[in-house]
Amino acid sequence: MVGGGFAGAACARALRRLDPNLQVTLVTGGKMFSACPFNGSVIAGLREPAQQDFAYDGIAASGVTVATVAADSVDAGSRTVTLAGGDKLPYDRLVIAPGVAMNWTAIAGYSEAAAERMPHAWTGGPQTVLLRRQLEAMADGGLVVIAVPATPYRCPPAPYERASLIAHYLKTTKPKSKLLILDAKDNYSKQTLFEEAWAALYPGLIEWVPLGKGGNVTAVDPATLTVKTDFEDHKPAVANVIPPQKAAPIALRAGVADRTGWCPIEPVAFESTLQPGIHVLGDAALMGAMPKAAHAAAEQGKVCAAAVVAKLRERAPSEVQLDNVCYSLAGPSWGFLETNSYRPENGQLLAPPGVVKVSPLAAPASLREEQARADEAWFATITIEIFG
Ligand SMILES: Cc1cc2nc3c(=O)[nH]c(=O)nc-3n(C[C@H](O)[C@H](O)[C@H](O)COP(=O)(O)OP(=O)(O)OC[C@H]3O[C@@H](n4cnc5c(N)ncnc54)[C@H](O)[C@@H]3O)c2cc1C
Repeated sequence: MVGGGFAGAACARALRRLDPNLQVTLVTGGKMFSACPFNGSVIAGLREPAQQDFAYDGIAASGVTVATVAADSVDAGSRTVTLAGGDKLPYDRLVIAPGVAMNWTAIAGYSEAAAERMPHAWTGGPQTVLLRRQLEAMADGGLVVIAVPATPYRCPPAPYERASLIAHYLKTTKPKSKLLILDAKDNYSKQTLFEEAWAALYPGLIEWVPLGKGGNVTAVDPATLTVKTDFEDHKPAVANVIPPQKAAPIALRAGVADRTGWCPIEPVAFESTLQPGIHVLGDAALMGAMPKAAHAAAEQGKVCAAAVVAKLRERAPSEVQLDNVCYSLAGPSWGFLETNSYRPENGQLLAPPGVVKVSPLAAPASLREEQARADEAWFATITIEIFG
């Protein structure tokens, strides 16, 4: 297993549960995993960064060998992973779940160095803390800009959850401030639910500029903190630039990413269509209609584990339905959710018609509060299940 996030860690654990005789090594890339769900709450000062960090002790105790270094390269021919430092791990089956990397060439002027001035905060850890500190340092009356990419990207509703929670922070601590969302698309996930919440909670505070009205950010200048679209230059006090993304570099080095930057897979065992014997999970893969989300990634991890065990026993893996539940917060006590299911169909994972369920509009405050608390319970449960 390469990648110790939601998909990889869930898969490693499930493999050991399904067959305690398997030798499973999880290559994590670091001693701690820093989770992204609830990152908006961290940025808004409602949650501490340390609550996002998980160690691998529970996974090691379950019988998985944990290597807390990065995988450097994969040789699919000799079935070997080389770790940073030079150690080589032979494998019968390799699962790669390395998550995403920022596409630094997509927005002119944006780069790893620019992200130190204009954080993306689209990975856990220091970037998230940097954005929080910038908001804390901003004077009342400042403009915050969030640049949102076109799909596919990690967690479709998360930019709007983040916007909501930043708006909550501004409303409660810097009420003369404004938030501008510059979007590279014309509609987004759970849009009517977010819009209803913004009108009720933050009237006049958030402005959303869709693609059709000039929302696409084409360039930035970190020196002058300028965010440019085809129509206008904006000079915010805080710029959160979320660039387009692609599979993390190890996927390219393993030969499982195509020209889109993402990894094509077949939808039953998630085996790469480019490299037999290598499975790709989570955000790095092209999963058809299944979104790039932590719950989805963990589901894929468990289903893939069963498929890998079947393949090692030279049996055909079963086709199963995968479920996703996706909570969002529009305020600390304003939650809603969407649930959906996906099945292999025509070489993709597709949602059968009529299966999706979304929280209702015009719901009572008690339901919004209940679903906000259910979101917290979801995060506690999934992280205990995977890392506990
Ligand atoms: C702001 C935000 C909010 C979100 N909120 C939610 C939410 O509420 N609900 C939800 O379901 N999802 C949410 N998500 C999405 C969720 O975080 C991702 O979909 C999920 O983390 C994907 O899991 P993964 O295992 O594919 O990747 P990750 O969780 O990113 O794990 C990949 C791991 O692989 C490691 N790695 C990379 N390269 C190597 C290498 N060469 N060697 C070894 N290890 C390597 C990485 O360091 C990382 O630890 C959110 C995302 C963001 C950005």
